[in-house]
Amino acid sequence: MSQVLENTVIDVSKSAIAIHHLNHYYGQGSLKKQVLFDINLHIDRGEIIILTGPSGSGKTTLLTLMGCLRSVQDGSLNILGQELLHASKEAMTLARRNVGYIFQAHNLLNFLTAYQNVEMALELQAVTAAEADSRIRSVLNAVGLEDRMNYYPSNLSGGQKQRVAIARALVSQPQIILADEPTAALDKKSGRDVVEIMEKLAKEQGCTILLVTHDNRILDLADRIIYMEDGCLVDHVEATAAIK
Ligand code: ADP
Ligand code: MG
Repeated sequence: MSQVLENTVIDVSKSAIAIHHLNHYYGQGSLKKQVLFDINLHIDRGEIIILTGPSGSGKTTLLTLMGCLRSVQDGSLNILGQELLHASKEAMTLARRNVGYIFQAHNLLNFLTAYQNVEMALELQAVTAAEADSRIRSVLNAVGLEDRMNYYPSNLSGGQKQRVAIARALVSQPQIILADEPTAALDKKSGRDVVEIMEKLAKEQGCTILLVTHDNRILDLADRIIYMEDGCLVDHVEATAAIK
């Protein structure tokens, strides 16, 4: 019995994300439409997962639920030990601080420089000005933008802007990175560069990554690939077959 309990405790502490019987609906009344169906998924800490599948299959919805950008309606979604079903606003805000979110469009603020865009992500963190400065410089350096720190987004290429977005997501050293088609607007080479940088930094920080992509050329960077279709997760073997 104690063995079982011990194992249970170990399993729970290992999971970055644990999802059980998750359903999600948009709209109300006669317009209510189910978009996620009985999702079950465990992601261990440090894993790099690629989530793929046709447009409209529910990938972004699932990601926004994990990122605490949307409330869980039905089923269980546990992030780093915090249950999000019926979670209070405060609990959602705390959970969100452990998650770095990278969007398809880089979402940088155009009136701030690369440095200032990254700095914004540290505003809610308890770090001294000196430590903030050192972290911002080091993460911009890591994404290869040491000589572009004071550039505004309009003077950066698509790949460079997405690298600023990665720096912004990583500077607060989140435990989970959720990236929604981060390479969609990039050419092949910059797309792969961006994901390789993300992977390297995440490995250094022991971070878990869930990356949504349609890009077959970066699938090899994942520890595991999961496939979504019509709001359902298809298991790994079928997923690999579907992609090939
Ligand atoms: P994906 O990211 O795989 O393209 P989404 O999660 O964006 O899929 O969308 C899943 C389904 O939910 C689609 O049918 C889409 O039209 C619908 N949908 C997405 N967002 C909303 C919303 N805010 N309100 C109503 N329906 C939505
Ligand atoms: Mg999407």
